[in-house]
Amino acid sequence: MKRVLIIATGGTIASTSDGAGLAPTATGRELADKVPLIDTIAELGFVQPMNIDSTNMRPRDWLRIKDVIVESYADYDGFVVLHGTDTMAYTAAALSYLIQDSEKPIVLTGSQQPMASPFTDAKLNLYQSVLYAADDVSRDVSVVFSGKAIAGTRAHKQRTMSFNAFMSMNYPSLAYIRNDRIVRAGAGMGADAAPRTGAAPTVFDALDERVLVLKLTPELQPSIFELLKRDYDAVILETFGIGGIPDTLHDAIFGWVDSGRTLVVTTQVPEEGLDLGVYEVGRAYAENPGILKGDDMSTEALVAKTMWVLGQTRDPENVRKLFYREINHDRTPR
Ligand code: ASP
Repeated sequence: MKRVLIIATGGTIASTSDGAGLAPTATGRELADKVPLIDTIAELGFVQPMNIDSTNMRPRDWLRIKDVIVESYADYDGFVVLHGTDTMAYTAAALSYLIQDSEKPIVLTGSQQPMASPFTDAKLNLYQSVLYAADDVSRDVSVVFSGKAIAGTRAHKQRTMSFNAFMSMNYPSLAYIRNDRIVRAGAGMGADAAPRTGAAPTVFDALDERVLVLKLTPELQPSIFELLKRDYDAVILETFGIGGIPDTLHDAIFGWVDSGRTLVVTTQVPEEGLDLGVYEVGRAYAENPGILKGDDMSTEALVAKTMWVLGQTRDPENVRKLFYREINHDRTPR
């Protein structure tokens, strides 16, 4: 029988209310005990590195989860991280960069309703996550939620209440899960997937937390870039449309880049990505090698990837190389 490690970190799935609002209390083992037939899929192990609302999840916690997986990697066939939905997409992206080329699947899941709620979605999400984590073909980091498996770099929380909370941004879902059946999409993702070789994943230990997302709004003041210099090494700029940046910000943006700090440009439009070459209001930024283009990556993945890249190197050429490397389906190269 396959062995799956449940790494419980909190979230709504583990939450109960004492009158002061939902907060996580249940352990991973208590949650699994509520899921019928789960022990027929895999032999489960449990570890509880934290029990928090994912609102409070920080990069140092991503590194702790990474450590737990690495320490028990040899003893299990797959991993299921129980996590709050609110920042799950960030953690899934971070784990995608911290543990690369993992032949063993690392699945994140949670729920919109607590396990203790009579109308919970927690049982099916946990059951199907263990099913996916115990499957021979699954690999790398993914989010399994509401009958879908999504690459860990492409998940985005789209709905605050519906069970169908996550969408796969600018990339197809990896699989649909119907009851007990995993239906995989795409060549190389089903029975024709490359067989496992037993190779160890590539693991990274460092992140630069000083990364900020800045969303353009009309009349944003250029002075913001000066103010950000104290606390941040990188800004991820969510531009208008396919890549429009107001003329008033031109000098401040180039001042930021020339100071040796990192600028990543993306779009605030949720779907289809960025192309700075289309309009005159974007062109000035298109050819500068110091400005990194987010293409069709999600903002969550850009945050995690920028933290990972700057955790590994400060050399501009190497920053570019790592940033444009395609990892766990995170970007579609042009
Ligand atoms: N606030 C909760 C969390 O992210 C929401 C959830 O889990 O659905 O931990």
